[in-house]
Amino acid sequence: MKSRKLTLMAVFAHPDDEAFGVGGTLARYGAEGCDVTLVTASRGEAGQIAEPDLATPANLPYVREQELRCACQTYGIHPPRFLDYVDGQLTVVHQGQAVGKLVRIIRELKPQVLLTFGPDGIYGHYDHIAVHRWTTIAFDLAADPECFPGQLGTVCQPHQVSKLYYHVLSEQALAVMSQGDRPPSVLMDGVPFPFVAWRSEEITTVIDVSDYAEARLRGIQCHATQVGRQSRFAAAPEEMLGDPWLQRETFVLARSTVGWPDGVETDLFAGLR
Ligand SMILES: [Zn+2]
Repeated sequence: MKSRKLTLMAVFAHPDDEAFGVGGTLARYGAEGCDVTLVTASRGEAGQIAEPDLATPANLPYVREQELRCACQTYGIHPPRFLDYVDGQLTVVHQGQAVGKLVRIIRELKPQVLLTFGPDGIYGHYDHIAVHRWTTIAFDLAADPECFPGQLGTVCQPHQVSKLYYHVLSEQALAVMSQGDRPPSVLMDGVPFPFVAWRSEEITTVIDVSDYAEARLRGIQCHATQVGRQSRFAAAPEEMLGDPWLQRETFVLARSTVGWPDGVETDLFAGLR
């Protein structure tokens, strides 16, 4: 059909968002020889520092950038790109500028597949939801020559991405995460925001990443300022390799110019190979 290299572009908000969500998928397509680029909106400097000797508040943006570089190397993908926004501020930055930055990168990399958060932002983090909206809008505008005409030149032609995927948690994944009666959640401003699970009939795409569980785990370990060196990710990695949540990653196909699957897809590039 076409001979251009398969290219995947993933867009997330913070260093480590990719590790807990789609690290296996990034590693799998990297290993298959696809061009895989991760774009991250911020350097995650609003996060906690798990162990005080790993970073200071002043150098945290630099340290977390290095951690993400380590993770991308582990997945076998290109070095990360940054949109250079401040962690926690994504809803109040200039939204048009943010979309424009993504449109420019899409026009440069020309991915067939674009990947980001779903509308729930996994657990409702405002930064995640902002990135979801920017990426969804950028999918449409990158193909429109009347949008951001200042970007158009010999290097920046309009580009129609073929498929847009949202990474979502499945009910099964959430069940594995659940301990006790309380639904798993993330504390934001002292309030537990529960993870959002999608029903199996809503999930269009399941990627088998069982061969990449180790790469994903090592990617998580790269984010040491977040997970620490004593956490279960670092302390007993061999025991974790069989964990169900490391075997499969789940997605919803949100836009497609190459048709829609009849059943559950097992390849983000289905219809494009
Ligand atoms: Zn995040």
